[in-house]
Amino acid sequence: MTASFSLPPEAAEPRLDVARRTLERLRGVPALAARYAAHVNVHTLERLAALPPLAKDDLNTALAHLEPAAEHSATWLFQSGGSTGAPKVGYAPTGFYMAGVHAHWQPLDRTDVFANAWGAGRMWGAHYLAAGLADLSGCRIIALGSVTREEYGDWLAFLADRGVTAIGGTPSVLRLWFAHARATGVRLPSLRKVLWLGEAWQPQLDEDLAVVAPQARRWGMFGSTETWVVGTNTPDCPADTFHPLPHQLVHVDADGLLDFTTLDPEMLNPVLRYHTGDAGELTACPCGRPGPAMRVLGRRDSVVQVRGLGLDVDELITRAEREPGVARAQVVLTEQRGRATGVDVLLLADGPGAAPDAERLRKALLAATFTLSTAFQHDPESFRVRPVDALVSNGRTGKTAALVVREES
Ligand SMILES: [Zn+2]
Repeated sequence: MTASFSLPPEAAEPRLDVARRTLERLRGVPALAARYAAHVNVHTLERLAALPPLAKDDLNTALAHLEPAAEHSATWLFQSGGSTGAPKVGYAPTGFYMAGVHAHWQPLDRTDVFANAWGAGRMWGAHYLAAGLADLSGCRIIALGSVTREEYGDWLAFLADRGVTAIGGTPSVLRLWFAHARATGVRLPSLRKVLWLGEAWQPQLDEDLAVVAPQARRWGMFGSTETWVVGTNTPDCPADTFHPLPHQLVHVDADGLLDFTTLDPEMLNPVLRYHTGDAGELTACPCGRPGPAMRVLGRRDSVVQVRGLGLDVDELITRAEREPGVARAQVVLTEQRGRATGVDVLLLADGPGAAPDAERLRKALLAATFTLSTAFQHDPESFRVRPVDALVSNGRTGKTAALVVREES
């Protein structure tokens, strides 16, 4: 049982007082109390593994009740899932737990000029946690945030001029930067470090970097707004493999799903066997660093990544199928070399006379779905809703999946 944890019992069990305190907090949430009633005395990893896992909705329910507050700083509210309607929130103190990350992972140093290209504002966490890390490293910071397609050229010239040595962002956003630089002949010879977080690394980035910034190497973080940074890697590690931080207890269950338990007493979110929906395994990292590393094998739930944001396909379909005249709905995600170029909701009419109002539904979905309105902020026309005569089905199995992913050449 214990071999499925990132820490051995002798390292983890003396620190399970944090997990027990989290359990008490969850037990105090009326909607969750019953499921934890039988679980007491969590002093061993075996007992911890027997706790019911926590899903995103459970965590949001708990946070709505607990409304945690930081003891020594301000309490920041960030987007935490909730792909429809208003954003659900996760909490963090100023500093965003990055001191614990910086103690084990220092991609930046005082000599770096770091362009922080994660989007700022909109209750997104990544820009601020990267700023926290850069602050601890004492480097020079350019708070770039998100820019529009028309602005890439001017900003790239500025970054080249400033001798930027490091940049950080979501891989799909970094791809836009480097694809633009490559296409327009911009070179960033001083760039040595690319920090990333928020979705899987994209191999196309390696190709673009080889041309635009041949000295650049990738430095990855894995985490979520609920768990904050769970693990990190270096250029010597495979892109899908991360070394868990000692205050993050990673567990792989019998189904191959990862769950996370915080051992950090400062953590505001009650993270106790929390499922991000990612499958994974614990493995030895080829970089040679001892101890189990976490290999992330991708999502297993109904949430897909669309431009770095989680889109809950089942939620979207439920909403579309509530529309008058709609019998069934299907989501088609179109990607070009790993990046989402469009999302289509296909509507199968409820009988010959039915005519669902696709444009009205499109506007309603866009307005109510945070992931869609944010991901397609600059090209809302790439989100479409259209009636069809037949949904897309798999000719081999005859099945009609809720989600179809299409690769554009
Ligand atoms: Zn490694």
